[in-house]
Amino acid sequence: MTKEKFDAIVVGAGMSGNAAAYAMASRGLKVLQLERGEYPGSKNVQGAIMYANMLEAIIPDFRNDAPLERHLVEQRFWIMDDTSHTGMHYRSDDFNEVTPNRYTIIRAQFDKWLSRKVCEAGGTVLCETTATGLEWDSAGKAIGVRTDRAGDVVLADVVVLAEGVNGLLGTRAGLREVPKSKNVALAVKELHFLPEEVIASRFGLTGDEGCVIEAGGTISRGMAGLGFLYTNKESISLGIGCLISNFAETMERPYALLDAFKRHPSIQPLIAGSEVKEYAAHLIPEGGFNAIPRLCGNGWVVVGDAAQLNNAVHREGSNLAMASGRMAGEAISIIKSRGGGVMDKASLSLYKTILDKSFVVEDLSKQKDMPSLLHTNSPNFFTTYPQLISHAAQNFVRVDGTPKIEREIATTAAFLRARSRWGLVSDAVRLASAWR
Ligand SMILES: Cc1cc2nc3c(=O)[nH]c(=O)nc-3n(C[C@H](O)[C@H](O)[C@H](O)COP(=O)(O)OP(=O)(O)OC[C@H]3O[C@@H](n4cnc5c(N)ncnc54)[C@H](O)[C@@H]3O)c2cc1C
Repeated sequence: MTKEKFDAIVVGAGMSGNAAAYAMASRGLKVLQLERGEYPGSKNVQGAIMYANMLEAIIPDFRNDAPLERHLVEQRFWIMDDTSHTGMHYRSDDFNEVTPNRYTIIRAQFDKWLSRKVCEAGGTVLCETTATGLEWDSAGKAIGVRTDRAGDVVLADVVVLAEGVNGLLGTRAGLREVPKSKNVALAVKELHFLPEEVIASRFGLTGDEGCVIEAGGTISRGMAGLGFLYTNKESISLGIGCLISNFAETMERPYALLDAFKRHPSIQPLIAGSEVKEYAAHLIPEGGFNAIPRLCGNGWVVVGDAAQLNNAVHREGSNLAMASGRMAGEAISIIKSRGGGVMDKASLSLYKTILDKSFVVEDLSKQKDMPSLLHTNSPNFFTTYPQLISHAAQNFVRVDGTPKIEREIATTAAFLRARSRWGLVSDAVRLASAWR
């Protein structure tokens, strides 16, 4: 390992690490990026919807060569019980725009591409290298990292911790707590391969158009969690995730949930005949605003999932990771440009100032009560209400000679029976006030 000193070391080559490394390298900083995986993306898991706006802010012309699967024209939201789904589908030709807003991607390919951009911008990327600890000076400033390469220490003015949700560097150094099980979901995902034309005909797609389904209901067996189905060019990403604390309480197994989700009568026909080639499991930070740790200190900043910057309610993570990584990289470049400025807690707070003014903190802070509401009342939101909605929908469409008024009374009675009316009203009010 090199003995040179760097302006910055970035730990991790996921979305946030690549964004930070690119932002700094493209501004002329001497950047070393360490990735424990065989290649960038080899260990990373995402659904995966990628939000173009946040990548455009880093690489404006990314559409020229980024490995993109489909641009999304349709979003389906499904509320499911064991045999049905009640859906809201939004499809718009507006999304067939010159610069589409959202794409599906495959992280293994995408992270490799973004990392190549970091190298082209002048950054040095070392894979199969794990940062094992932070190196400190006697004044308590981080001055570099130790790695698993022959006990080497690499020095830098600042370390960017982009090590993901279960990154050990920051927690070992006491910079943040190990995420609590009630704030982290475990998601499992499979990649189902199908011919391109089969995917197009099953979802009504033309060319590179894509469709995604977000699903909640009895598929999570009362736990706080959602399922998803995303169309790629020649594959379908299918997965489900629930809070770790819920898995621990219920002893449900993630893979059994995914198996049941695949066999659900609304999902099974969409993946029929597919060949499963990949299986992956990963954590997702779900604590929202209240779980965000300290974002910077003497000689270090933390970005992306490691900083719990994930908007689980809206299923957004990679965009917050890219945005926070870019903002950290830009803040460090500004400090550096001030005559090689010192990277201490006071100067690095510029990153927090920029982040606080952005959509990242704005969104998370406005919905800060949402995670705990959904997590504490999960049996209501994920079992009782979906079953009632399904019951109401079926009552509405089934025709068997029963007078409509009787059906309406039966539906209303079911709602009132299943949950006291005040419980229902109170959940609705709390949901409305948390959802701003
Ligand atoms: C199943 C699933 C579906 C998701 N779907 C979506 C979606 O559709 N859209 C969306 O926007 N977000 C989604 N997310 C969230 C999204 O994946 C994350 O928010 C995003 O990957 C965070 O990026 P990151 O760079 O912070 O962390 P990561 O992508 O986890 O990257 C961390 C990197 O650091 C490396 N690393 C860790 N420790 C060390 C070390 N000590 N030394 C060297 N390298 C290290 C890891 O190998 C990894 O490459 C999903 C997540 C999951 C699990």
